[in-house]
Amino acid sequence: MFFSASLTNAATPLADYFTDTWSTQDGLPHNSINAIAQTSDGYLWFATWEGVARYNGREFRFYERSTRTGIIDSGTRALVSDNSNGLWVAGARGGITYRGKNGWQPQLDAKSMVNYLIHDRDGNLWVAVEGLGVFFRPNPDSLNHQNDEVWVLKNISAYRLLEDSQGRIWAATAKGLFHLNGENSKEDILGQHGLPSLQVNSLLEMPDKQLIIATNKGAYILSKENIKPLHDEIAKEAITTLMLDSSGSLWLGTINKGVMRLTNGIIETLDTQQGLPNNRILSMLQDLEGSIWIGTNGGLMRLRNAPFTTFTKDRGLVGNYVRSVMDIDQDSVLVGSSEGLSVIKDNKAQNALADTNSSLSVLSFGKRKGGGAWVGTYLHGLMYWQNRVLTPYLDQQDGLPNNEIRAVLEDSQNNLWIGTTNGLVKKAPDGEMRTYSSEQGLPDNYIMALAEDERGQIWVGTGLGVTVLSEDKVSRVPIHSQEGAGYAFGFWVEPGYVWITTDRGLIRYRQQDGQLSLVGRSTGLPIDKLFQVVYDGKDGLWLTSNRGIWRISYKAAHSIANGQQQNIAFEHFAESDGMASAQANGGSNPAAVATPDGRLWFATAKGVSTVNSQDVSKKSTLQLPIVIESLSVDGRPLPFNKQAELPANTNRIIFNYAGLGYVMSSRIEYRTRLVGFEKDWALRGKSTVAEYTNLAPGHYQFLVSARYPYSDWNTAEQVFDFEVLPHFWQRLGVQILFVLLVLALFAGAMYWRLHRLKQSEIRLKAIIDKQTHALRQKSEDFQRQANEDDLTGLPNRRAFDRLLSARFAQVKQDNTQLMLVIMDIDHFKKINDNYSHLAGDKVIQSLAKTLLRLEGTNVHVARWGGEEFTLVIEGLDENAALTYCEALRKSIEITTYKDIAPGLVMTISMGGAFAHQAEHYQDLLKLADQALYRAKDRGRNRIELWHDDV
Ligand code: GH3
Ligand code: MG
Ligand code: MG
Repeated sequence: MFFSASLTNAATPLADYFTDTWSTQDGLPHNSINAIAQTSDGYLWFATWEGVARYNGREFRFYERSTRTGIIDSGTRALVSDNSNGLWVAGARGGITYRGKNGWQPQLDAKSMVNYLIHDRDGNLWVAVEGLGVFFRPNPDSLNHQNDEVWVLKNISAYRLLEDSQGRIWAATAKGLFHLNGENSKEDILGQHGLPSLQVNSLLEMPDKQLIIATNKGAYILSKENIKPLHDEIAKEAITTLMLDSSGSLWLGTINKGVMRLTNGIIETLDTQQGLPNNRILSMLQDLEGSIWIGTNGGLMRLRNAPFTTFTKDRGLVGNYVRSVMDIDQDSVLVGSSEGLSVIKDNKAQNALADTNSSLSVLSFGKRKGGGAWVGTYLHGLMYWQNRVLTPYLDQQDGLPNNEIRAVLEDSQNNLWIGTTNGLVKKAPDGEMRTYSSEQGLPDNYIMALAEDERGQIWVGTGLGVTVLSEDKVSRVPIHSQEGAGYAFGFWVEPGYVWITTDRGLIRYRQQDGQLSLVGRSTGLPIDKLFQVVYDGKDGLWLTSNRGIWRISYKAAHSIANGQQQNIAFEHFAESDGMASAQANGGSNPAAVATPDGRLWFATAKGVSTVNSQDVSKKSTLQLPIVIESLSVDGRPLPFNKQAELPANTNRIIFNYAGLGYVMSSRIEYRTRLVGFEKDWALRGKSTVAEYTNLAPGHYQFLVSARYPYSDWNTAEQVFDFEVLPHFWQRLGVQILFVLLVLALFAGAMYWRLHRLKQSEIRLKAIIDKQTHALRQKSEDFQRQANEDDLTGLPNRRAFDRLLSARFAQVKQDNTQLMLVIMDIDHFKKINDNYSHLAGDKVIQSLAKTLLRLEGTNVHVARWGGEEFTLVIEGLDENAALTYCEALRKSIEITTYKDIAPGLVMTISMGGAFAHQAEHYQDLLKLADQALYRAKDRGRNRIELWHDDV
């Protein structure tokens, strides 16, 4: 009987899987892995007797008995994930709990240990209980649910439940298979089909809707029509677990024989001999990346598709110590080892020789135009391989310097170049042989590599440098200038450039000018000695070394060589990537090759390792789930629900995140970005921690994305929104208020100041006004003082002088009358003497008053000095003027001055002269004064006019 499924994908050969194992020594809480699940966020979960362990690819986190989780006993039997990132956890003591997006949600216990449960499409919970049977809890939201628990199977140990695509609920029990929501739900299905009562351990629905039934005695396949054994070879095996992988292979876990894999009717076995920790299988799961996880009684094993697969003697290779590998046609590679020749074709290795008994140590290969391949040997010179037969061609006896052939090249001119360890031989098409050695200018006789460039030049790699041969010209390439490089292990020629692998790294030779540049330790490669360089046709340059294989970017290598870039990124591949040995071989050629299908082949100390360069990229573009695992704020873990508010004084916030990729966990690279803090992504390398300090208040969004090296960043950027709250004084409102306050204060101050200024201004103005007024007053006073007599207020002599001058000129011009009178108080000395000086003053003032009353348009008076006064009288002729003066004299004479002093009397004398009598106004004064003198002389108290006749 064969199981046939509609399987088209090619299954990975079991031997091609790379295996890893975990036990309690690697952090598992217990070595019995009862169940495995992967939640949709990408975490892997393992159920053990000591609790549940969650794995992120680097470390386990434990969930043990606690009231928070609802795990009432650490012994866990069942893990069932759903497609909304939820996980059911159940086990010892009937504990049932659910971890959903709102955290842990403990459920009502079952009466005994739960072996399995399912949450069906209607929301009912079905629970398989050890020793008791199966019950279900109707969906609490359904309208017609009455009982909290409905037992559908009783007094029977139930191990597994299944809801199939048609909504049927199946139970695997100690006493057979039951269809719980069927017509005869109490009847064993196996028994109905005439089979003995078997313990059913597990169930699986196939894509074609047939049911696989794993029993203690073989597995069966149940279709609509009948039930049949799955496969003869396992008819007696106790099958515990079932799993269908993405390529359609059915994996069967057994009770004591490890895992069996059924692919297209073929059974393969994986057991402790192949490294399985234990042959008792408890659980199996294929994760989102396609790796197969196997839980045993003694630990955990993972089978993963490593980027490299290795062909060794175990897989049909002739000899594990491989020195050369070369493509011979579209789909085959020739492999040379210390024990002989192999061909790998269609993923299978076999002896390349018909005579499988012949043993030969192979060092090198060369493309042979006549078909097959040139084969350089260790001890037997040069041979050629064709039609599965190896034919000797040239050896020491035919003229080779020795029989150790490390490089062979048939060039475009059909010359055959043979590199021995004692010189280079060129065999021309006409059979002529010529030997090149140090005598002919080779740096060294130990030839390891040969290549022809596009100019037809032959490149010779030796133990002491590189030489180029052209038209019989030998020219050295001074690779020594590159940090002292000596060994030239291999070449890769591209138009314009020749790349040389040396003991100081990768050297680029530029044809146009012979410039040499090094891509080596000084530019970031961690290793000096490189054997081979292979270009994968995309952007990968693959470098082989004693310490694994390195991939660098072709473009970056050129950039470095051009001096445009300082540091080169690399990716390293070794045993954990599927190489049986990381030690690649070199020293003979070709030790690595790229085939047209995109595969690269490497000769190693343990077999041929091969990698599909496109596959590595493909794997890398897988959507890498990423999670923020934890977050701590100022040293305290912060529970988060995608959003948080952090206090104002937050100083340090640390994010721990993980890319949930398990294939190459340690290679995952991260970048983070804190929106609100930085504009661009910050590359984090392999670090899973991002730390920020002293964040200003505001809204932030933390983004993290991940990738495998050389692939695109995933778009599943994990996001965490948070807010750093402002201090009281940092709040916008407060700040606005503060600003307003400051503005108000400022405005107030300004107003106050302006007010003050205004007040000051007013005051100042008042002061100024006052002072101006005073000044004016003073000025006026001065003015007055300048023109007025202090004692009497009459115009003084100066003012009078000015007046007289002006009027004199005017009357002269107008020819009008003007009389000048000088008046003098008679015997004033006596008044002073008799009545006091003060009385004298008062007398003067009194007289002045009298005179002031005369002031008008035609009469002007002034104090001429002392007790003398002057008058200008205009418009009066002599008689009228005399009359006027006489009246004045009389009025003064009769005035009584008793209020000044009793008995005081005063008279005056006057002398007058007319303007027409004088030429100049000063002459007029003299004339008047003379007239006054005459009045005094003639008895005083009288008036005298000047007459020239006098
Ligand atoms: P007469 O003119 O009649 O010949 O006699 P007199 O006493 O007035 O003679 P004189 O001109 O020699 O003297 C004038 C006196 O007037 C001298 C002076 O002491 C006095 N005198 C001048 N100015 C003032 C004044 O402003 N006040 C007072 N109290 N006495 C004055
Ligand atoms: Mg006098
Ligand atoms: Mg006098």
